[in-house]
Amino acid sequence: MKTIGMIGGMSWESTVSYYQALNRGVKEALGESHSAKIWLYSVDFEEIKTLQHQGEWHKAAKILSDAAQKIEAAGADFLMICANTMHKVAEEVQAKISIPLLHIADVTAENLVADGVSKVGLLGTQFTMGEDFYKGRVSEKYDIEVIVPDAPQQEIVHNIIYSELIMGEIKDDSRQRYLEVIDQLHAQGVQAVILGCTEIALLVQQQHTSVPLYDTTEIHSAQAVKLALAK
Ligand code: GLU
Repeated sequence: MKTIGMIGGMSWESTVSYYQALNRGVKEALGESHSAKIWLYSVDFEEIKTLQHQGEWHKAAKILSDAAQKIEAAGADFLMICANTMHKVAEEVQAKISIPLLHIADVTAENLVADGVSKVGLLGTQFTMGEDFYKGRVSEKYDIEVIVPDAPQQEIVHNIIYSELIMGEIKDDSRQRYLEVIDQLHAQGVQAVILGCTEIALLVQQQHTSVPLYDTTEIHSAQAVKLALAK
């Protein structure tokens, strides 16, 4: 089995989901008391969040690159950045290490392509929904049309992530607001919606809507398990 490298803590609430999914995935595949081999570096998210909102992406990239180098030196075979937003600096991080980075947008898009989805909605932080590093990659590399909510809805989605979900606060009225946004994306013709923030599945799950959801935490983890177990 290969050793999985994780940069987590962004936020730790979703790192818990990753940790469970990776270990459950290995157990399902190998049975008995098998579990995943992992090197996890968990950052202090307050530092990252502050740098994000100040636009200091190079400083945030430096924190992640330093973590990535430590994870590589420790012996991980590949690296996961356990968040969508911080993939904004994925290339900078990859440039500092020689193990491969398992890009969250690539694995999500590969699942969409396999399921024949050509028009998809995207929920995430305003960085992920508003900038091109994520949706541009999905649309250009995989030829999938990506629709994001309008500006006021983006603000609602973003604020719920940073003021509730990253602190583990799960509220019914916030779920309702997300479901309204999902319905509006569906009314614009999307076949599915990407939960493009690794905490969203703590709030909204497939049982809450008939619109197919692509949970990036689950997809990213499942692909990591496959990679870890590949011969
Ligand atoms: N975990 C989140 C994501 O997947 C948001 C927190 C962050 O900004 O990293 O984008």
